[in-house]
Amino acid sequence: MVRRALAQLALISLALLTALPAAAQTPAKELFGRQQAGSPHRPHPLGSYSRGCLAGAVPLAETGPTWQAMRLSRNRNWAFPETLTFIDRLSRFAARLPGWNGLYIGDMSQPRGGPMLTGHASHQTGLDIDIWLRPATNLRLTPREREEVSSISLQRSRGAFVNDSWTPAHHELLKAAASDPAVARIFIFPGAKVQMCRDARGDRAWLRKIRPWWGHDTHFHVRLACPRGMSGCVDQDPPPPGDGCDDAVAWANNILNPPPPDPNAPPPRPRRDLTLADLPQECASVLSR
Ligand SMILES: [Zn+2]
Repeated sequence: MVRRALAQLALISLALLTALPAAAQTPAKELFGRQQAGSPHRPHPLGSYSRGCLAGAVPLAETGPTWQAMRLSRNRNWAFPETLTFIDRLSRFAARLPGWNGLYIGDMSQPRGGPMLTGHASHQTGLDIDIWLRPATNLRLTPREREEVSSISLQRSRGAFVNDSWTPAHHELLKAAASDPAVARIFIFPGAKVQMCRDARGDRAWLRKIRPWWGHDTHFHVRLACPRGMSGCVDQDPPPPGDGCDDAVAWANNILNPPPPDPNAPPPRPRRDLTLADLPQECASVLSR
């Protein structure tokens, strides 16, 4: 049933793509960045986190019992329905942590997913969520305040260490997120992972999903796995086996003692804008319906 609907979507998309040669040249970020609301399809993440789109996206309620969506003007609080269920689940856990009443939710996806005009390379399929590291104490922020309030940075020495704002509650929150079966990976600055590696007691399996990455000192990024039965949704390869703690220490050491530049390294290739042709065929009809 799902497969047939998907095949129909693909057929329509192919027809659209040939009918609109101009759209084929336009950077996909312009086409997707213009969308104001979700497509009328059944919810379905299509393609991969960095080359995909989202059919039938639903918006996160701007305020829930244990969360607030931030920076509403960006209109990036759209996602796959199970992503919203996850936010509800994790934010309820957060609300029980000392000093927290819930979560401030940053960028998720655009109304039809796809590449963005600014920021993120990923967040294209409604399965990526940025969650603020600033404890959500006040869940009655006005829309205006949600534009003006900023998160806090938890890093020291350019991400090699955590600073004094890091708390055991942050550890518990990240542990709960990483232990959730829906989660594939979490990105955060290296010093945070090193700290969690040091503080973890007992089971360490959850640490595997926590991956050091650049930035991510004011928020952490949760990446959900492709939900069951969603053909055409492309998972990232799983993280390497083990808790990844050695890797995090290596990242932190590289920050503190950067290796000299490799004279034989090829110059970085400029990143080309994705076009519709780079995305799954079905994304053309996600855009046009
Ligand atoms: Zn992110």
